[in-house]
Amino acid sequence: MRHDAIVVGGSFAGLSAATYIARGRRSVVVVDAGIPHNRFAAHSHGFLAQDGSDPGQILATAREQLAAYGEASLVGATAIDARPVEDGFAVTLDNGLALETSKLVLAFGVADILPDVPGVAERWGRTVLHCPYCHGYEISRQRLGVLYGSPRSAQQAMLIAEWGPTTLFLDGQASPDADTMEELVRRNVFLEPARVIALVGEDHGLVDIAFEGGRQERMGALFIGAPNRLNSDLAERLGCAIDDGPLGPVIRTDADRMTSVPGVYAAGDIARAPHSVTWAASDGVTAGIAVHRSLAFG
Ligand SMILES: Cc1cc2nc3c(=O)[nH]c(=O)nc-3n(C[C@H](O)[C@H](O)[C@H](O)COP(=O)(O)OP(=O)(O)OC[C@H]3O[C@@H](n4cnc5c(N)ncnc54)[C@H](O)[C@@H]3O)c2cc1C
Repeated sequence: MRHDAIVVGGSFAGLSAATYIARGRRSVVVVDAGIPHNRFAAHSHGFLAQDGSDPGQILATAREQLAAYGEASLVGATAIDARPVEDGFAVTLDNGLALETSKLVLAFGVADILPDVPGVAERWGRTVLHCPYCHGYEISRQRLGVLYGSPRSAQQAMLIAEWGPTTLFLDGQASPDADTMEELVRRNVFLEPARVIALVGEDHGLVDIAFEGGRQERMGALFIGAPNRLNSDLAERLGCAIDDGPLGPVIRTDADRMTSVPGVYAAGDIARAPHSVTWAASDGVTAGIAVHRSLAFG
């Protein structure tokens, strides 16, 4: 089956790209495995006119609105292979479907690699958080923590202190250098050297941190700087250039969101750092318009 464009990933970036391609009256199919990055959070913040909305509901509305365009179709599946063919790209899905297209938009998102501390994964997106702009306002003025993951954690603690009194949990790691320590003190960041063994207790909007030796401390939230990985190897398979970002791989794109492989675009979390639904949607719009113009004039 041939389309003008295939979009791999049907979340904020992919649905935005597909909407603009469909509005340009070109056929587009969105292939989506259905596990968006923010599925752990009950509320999405900061997206204009959707502040506090259920992220799943935003995506359900976007899918419904896209499906109303005769040019668009949505397939619930995982794309497992993509390769160049004579006049475009061939994409294979895990349900056995083989699709062909002139232009390909990658929007398959990233996955977070959470620290191996018992209790973190269950609380991710609720009381264990990554982004103060997304979820900091709601917990501001409570006692907040940052779990040491890398030397960047000290900077993260200085930022989190803008939202509430902050403790950097060193988790047995060495203290930061003298200049960093001075800055942490100036910003009223406390340091806790003990090793963290688990997050425990009821998950009712507070997080109890258990240290080696049995002591516990209660926080409003614990922030971590989780590294991430791409959800799919399609960009590697296609030969797209990939750079090292601050927390993981970032697919290299130009101002039109085209990758180093002509005709292949990348949008959303896979092509930028840091991440937000607004940026993902914006990248999708940029890629969608670029795909349309390239089909019209390329
Ligand atoms: C816990 C948490 C809370 C967050 N809260 C906020 C917030 O409040 N405000 C905010 O602005 N941002 C928030 N974010 C960030 C936001 O979720 C992301 O920036 C946004 O979801 C990125 O959209 P995307 O379309 O690039 O990727 P994703 O949302 O990750 O979507 C990628 C889609 O591609 C699909 N996919 C993956 N591989 C394949 C494949 N091979 N074939 C087909 N489909 C595939 C996935 O299943 C998924 O549906 C949060 C993130 C997390 C982790």
